[in-house]
Amino acid sequence: MGDCFICNKHSGNIQTSGISIYEDEFVYVGHIDRNGNPNYLGHIMIDLKRHVPTLGEMNMEEAKVFGMMMAKVSKALMESEKAEHIYSFVAGDSVPHLHMHLVARYPNTPKDYWGPNAVYEWPDAPMGNNEDVIALCSRLKLYLESPV
Ligand SMILES: [Zn+2]
Repeated sequence: MGDCFICNKHSGNIQTSGISIYEDEFVYVGHIDRNGNPNYLGHIMIDLKRHVPTLGEMNMEEAKVFGMMMAKVSKALMESEKAEHIYSFVAGDSVPHLHMHLVARYPNTPKDYWGPNAVYEWPDAPMGNNEDVIALCSRLKLYLESPV
């Protein structure tokens, strides 16, 4: 796993867009990085810390935290960023280290652009640079840290 992108990211060997939104011993939550290309704002990744490829390999301790973060981050995207819907998926074909994508869909996104990939194609999609991503991560972090 020496060349695993996600393991390298967690150990700080790779710098990615934005800042950490949440981290504990089981999971790491951050914004997707597009290698210097503009980012779709609100495309969040929940990574399992342990290097296993699929959802079915989590132990129940990890699954509890993973599932809870899925719900909390989705709620944060809706409350703080005004998303109207959250897409989620695990692919893992290119990086075999469990990570779940959460993609916000914002109000007024035309139906032709609905879907976790299609939202990127919307000409009015909220794209941003690293500064915008950091600002968004900070808002989500603040939301997650505020008492319920
Ligand atoms: Zn890994």
